[in-house]
Amino acid sequence: APADTLARRDAHVAAAQEHYYSRPPQIERGWREHLIDTEAQTYVDVVNNVTIAGHAHPGIVDAAARQWTLLNTNSRFHYAAIAELSERLAALAPAGLDRVFLVNSGSEAVDLALRLAFTATGRGRILAAREAYHGWTIGSDAVSTSIGDNPRALETRPDWVELLDAPNPVRGTYRGRGSAAAYLADVDARLDALGADGRAQFAGVVIEPIFGNGGGVLLPDGYLAGLYERVRALGGVCISDEVQVGYGRLGAHFWGFEQQGAVPDVIAVAKAMGNGQPLGAVITTAAIAEAFEQEGSFFSSAGGSPVSARVGVAVLDALRDDDLQGNAQRVGALFGDALRALGTRHPSIGAVHGMGLYLGVELVVDADLTPAPELARRVCDLLLDDGCIVQPTGDHKNVLKIKPPLCITAESVAWVVAALDRALAAA
Ligand code: PMP
Repeated sequence: APADTLARRDAHVAAAQEHYYSRPPQIERGWREHLIDTEAQTYVDVVNNVTIAGHAHPGIVDAAARQWTLLNTNSRFHYAAIAELSERLAALAPAGLDRVFLVNSGSEAVDLALRLAFTATGRGRILAAREAYHGWTIGSDAVSTSIGDNPRALETRPDWVELLDAPNPVRGTYRGRGSAAAYLADVDARLDALGADGRAQFAGVVIEPIFGNGGGVLLPDGYLAGLYERVRALGGVCISDEVQVGYGRLGAHFWGFEQQGAVPDVIAVAKAMGNGQPLGAVITTAAIAEAFEQEGSFFSSAGGSPVSARVGVAVLDALRDDDLQGNAQRVGALFGDALRALGTRHPSIGAVHGMGLYLGVELVVDADLTPAPELARRVCDLLLDDGCIVQPTGDHKNVLKIKPPLCITAESVAWVVAALDRALAAA
C-alpha cells in the first residue's frame, strides 16, 4: 500500500479543513456505494450526498474523460454541453423557472441567489432560519447559523440578516408542534417587528425545504407555502436551497420544495449535480435574471465549463437510466423502516427523520430527547471499524447523517442496519 499521507496532509492542509475521523482511512478508490482504502478494506459510504450516481460511475467517467480530450476551458465560449445542461435543468424546474446560471459549488449558488434577490427587489435585507447551513462564502455564510460545525455562528450575523427560529418540531421553540400555524404566527410577528421601514427593505427569504444540517427533520405541512406567501406579499423573492435535498434524493420528489407543495422563485443547486465534479446552478425566472443583467454581466471561469457541463448532462442521464430517484424511493423506504424497527430495540434512537435517502437517526440519552453526541461519535467510530462510513450532524452533533449514493442496494442497506445494530449494542 502507498505510504500513509495523513501526517503530510496534517502538516499543510489547514486544520480547519477537517477530514472525517481522528484516524481516517486513506481512501484510494470508490465504486458505486463502496469506498476502498489503501489496505484494501472496503466501506459502505453512507454519508456521501455528492456522488448520487455512485462512485466512478462508468457513464459519467467516460463523459468527463472524453470531454477532457476534446476541450475544457472557461465558460465564455460557445459549446454544446452548456446549452444541453441548461435546457435539461430548465425542463426539470417548475414552469416559469427557465433561466440558468452555472457555478462551481453550493456556496456560490446561494451567494448568487442572494444577489439575484437584491437586484430583483432593489432591497438588502434577507430572512433566514436558525440551524441552517448554506455555505462558506461571505453571503452564504451570513445566512448560515448552524452551530454544529461553527459554534460561534450566531454571534456573527451581519445586520442585513433577519433570523427566524428553526422550524423544528423535534426540539427548541416549536417542540411537539405539528401544525404550521404557530410557526407562521411567529413569522408574522417577526415581520411586524421590522416595522414598515424594515419591511420595505426586505429582499426575500432563503431556506432549505428540509434542513440538511438539522438531520432531515421534516418541516410542518404548509410551513413553506405560508412562508413564501408572506414573503411575496412584501415583494420579496423566495430562494430554495436545494443543494442537499434536491436532485431526487427524497425519492418521492425531485426537488425539496415539492415535498412542501411550494414553488420558489430561485433554486440553488450543486453537490449532486456533478457527482463529485465541482458544479452548481441557480435556476430562476426571466424577470429575475433580467433584473440582474441590468446590473452587469456574470462570469465564473469554470462554472459550467465544458467538462463540468458535460458531466452535468451525464449525471442527469444516469439519474434517468439508472432510475436513481426510484431507487431512492424504494430503497429509502426500506432503510427508513429498518432504522425505525431498530429504534424499537435501542432506546438511544430517539427518532428517525427524513425521507427517501435523506435520513437522520437522532441519538439521545433519554426519553426527553437529550442529545447524545458522545454516543454518536462512538457509534461512528465502531461503524468505521466494521466497514461503514457515517458521520454525526446537526446543531448537537447527535444525528447520524444517512445520505448514501442513490444507487445503494437493498443488500448494502441491510448490511448497514445490521452494523448499526452491532455498534449501538457495543457503544
Ligand atoms: N447549502 C446546503 C444546504 C449545503 O448542505 C451545503 C454544503 N454542505 C452548501 C449549501 C454549500 O455547498 P458547497 O459546500 O458546495 O459550497
